[in-house]
Amino acid sequence: MADSDVEAFLTEAEEQQVVEAILQAERATSGEIRVHIEPRCPIDPLERAREVFYRLKMDNTKDNNGVLIYVAVKEHKFAIYGGSGINAAVPSGFWNSTCRLIETHFRQKKFKQGLTEGIRMAGEELKKFFPWKPSDTDELSNEISKG
Ligand code: CA
Ligand code: CA
Repeated sequence: MADSDVEAFLTEAEEQQVVEAILQAERATSGEIRVHIEPRCPIDPLERAREVFYRLKMDNTKDNNGVLIYVAVKEHKFAIYGGSGINAAVPSGFWNSTCRLIETHFRQKKFKQGLTEGIRMAGEELKKFFPWKPSDTDELSNEISKG
C-alpha cells in the first residue's frame, strides 16, 4: 500500500486521466512515458528521477527513449529524466518548456492538469525526434508507479 499522501495526490478518476494522457501521447511517438510519485525526495529531484528510472527498468526500450516524470508529492518537487537515446538526439534544455508548464500548474495545486498537460507536451516534443512507427509496441506500462 502506498503512502496516504501519495494516494491522495490524485483521485482515482484523475489517475485514469493521466494514464489516458500517456496512451494518447504514445500514439504519436515511440517514446515511452511513465509517471512515478512518492512522498518525499531526499536528494536532488533529477538525481532521484534517474535512480527511479533505472529501478523501474525504464532503460529497457529498443531506442532508449523512455521518459520518467518524477514527483515528490509532499514537497511538490518534480523532475523529468529521459533515457540515453533521447539525450543523444535532442538539444540541451529539451525539457525546459515541459518543466515550466508542469511547474505553472503545480504552483496552483493543479496536479492532475500539470501531469496531463506535461505528458501531452512531452509527447509533442518527443515525436519530432522519435515519431511513432507501425512496428511500435507499448514497451513500458502506462500505469502510474507509486513509491
Ligand atoms: Ca511505444
Ligand atoms: Ca507505454
